[in-house]
Amino acid sequence: MEFDSIINGDFVASAERSQNINPSDLSDVVGLFARADRAVTNQAIEAAAEAFPSWSATTPQLRHDILKRASDLILQRVDTLGRALSREEGKTLAEGMGEATRAGQVFAFFAGECLRAGGEQLPSTRPGVGVTITREALGVVGLITPWNFPIAIPAWKIAPALAWGNTVVLKPAEIAPHSAWLLVQILAEAGLPKGVLNLVLGKGSVVGEALVEHPKVAAISFTGSVNTGRRIAQGCTAALPMKKVQLEMGGKNPLVVLDDADLDLAVEAALNGAFYSTGQRCTASSRLIVTKGIHDAFVARLSERMQALVVGHALDAKTQIGPVVDQNQFEIDLGYIARGTDEGARLIGGEVVKAETEGYFLRPALFTEADNAMAIAREEIFGPVACVIAVDDFESAMEVANDTDFGLSSGICTTSLKYAEAFKRRSGAGMAMVNLPTAGVDYHVPFGGRKGSSYGSREQGTYARDFYSAVKTAYTLA
Ligand code: NDP
Repeated sequence: MEFDSIINGDFVASAERSQNINPSDLSDVVGLFARADRAVTNQAIEAAAEAFPSWSATTPQLRHDILKRASDLILQRVDTLGRALSREEGKTLAEGMGEATRAGQVFAFFAGECLRAGGEQLPSTRPGVGVTITREALGVVGLITPWNFPIAIPAWKIAPALAWGNTVVLKPAEIAPHSAWLLVQILAEAGLPKGVLNLVLGKGSVVGEALVEHPKVAAISFTGSVNTGRRIAQGCTAALPMKKVQLEMGGKNPLVVLDDADLDLAVEAALNGAFYSTGQRCTASSRLIVTKGIHDAFVARLSERMQALVVGHALDAKTQIGPVVDQNQFEIDLGYIARGTDEGARLIGGEVVKAETEGYFLRPALFTEADNAMAIAREEIFGPVACVIAVDDFESAMEVANDTDFGLSSGICTTSLKYAEAFKRRSGAGMAMVNLPTAGVDYHVPFGGRKGSSYGSREQGTYARDFYSAVKTAYTLA
């Protein structure tokens, strides 16, 4: 089946197409997706610019109703959407359906936000003058999203963009565009006027760059790797007029396990955080920092649990760990597994798994006897690979946890209130979890990191408005 870009409500084909392959079964082609060029991208931007005056002038009620209808439709179709997602990305069906549900919840939340837009009225410092502070839409917003959450991330960017009256051009990742395509169709079905949300399928180096460079795009919200993010930020500040930019990027998230932790809880938090969703989460717990008293018991229990995980076809109900997303990521993961061994860490798991279908199946890999200077502890791998770093005490755990170029999420397993509170205060990450995996967040609160992980204002929850709206201060002498 062939899939086109969707511009101004019309399907727009491109001469070139890319194949979207099911990573659980390489003989299964999900579809042939258009590979748009610059001219098609510009057409989408013009459509969004044309739709902006009327969309930004709609009532909060109308925007609420459309977003709420979209939420209802997504939630009614969780099974279909989850299946499509798992087929193209390789998450297990339960994870795929969970992500589709999240997309529906996000739309419901931002439907409510349409009705909560407030403002401020203040007396001026000058006699007879009044001051109001209001928020306005920005204009055309370009959204560039990665493959690993192919419906949730587009949802948590599209919903606030529309709620605040912006029009959108979305460019999803080329290797998993089907979920975004289905989502855009749902919004049309929910009654979104033509041109308000446009989808351009294609390569980041073509479509993404065209969005960053176009003068009619007011802002770019990006989620993806650090290198691409840096390039986009440079492009946004080099462009005239300069664009507002928001970047969510990688992580090398620490999970600290102290001697006083509940062992079962700590092992489950590590197992989930490090390996679920095949470790392909920016919030994955890739560094397990464990104090010496609990270290051996923790490693023994975790390796036992890891080895029992069922790795296989994402749509098989028994599967707990789906395949790696594609050949390129598979080779990256295998490369780091070889590198960790070369660096002197001890490997548990990490074997290539043969299944009934040909796919990118990899048993989770755990490195013990690692130290924080190794590449496996410093660089984001983005696969089911984690390392254990043994430390003496809480103080040295904090030092190792914060010794990273990233700062997205962090966690601690402890029964001590004193250490839990100290961890929340001293963590250098944007998110800190106590007795929970580093991955797995709520949708009604801000999401984001520090240092190399994030740039610009936060995504999600009420904080999303800081990016998707512009503040206006008005003075009146009455
Ligand atoms: P990439 O940076 O490779 O790609 C992300 C998006 O950017 C894709 O749509 C890609 O297009 C596009 N892109 C690529 N080059 C350019 C360019 N020159 N200009 C504009 N856009 C471009 O990341 P991945 O898709 O590989 O995703 C994995 C990364 O995402 C990891 O680092 C992960 O940590 C991060 N991530 C961060 C999250 C967070 O919230 N902090 C959440 C989820 C993932 P194309 O289709 O051509 O690849």
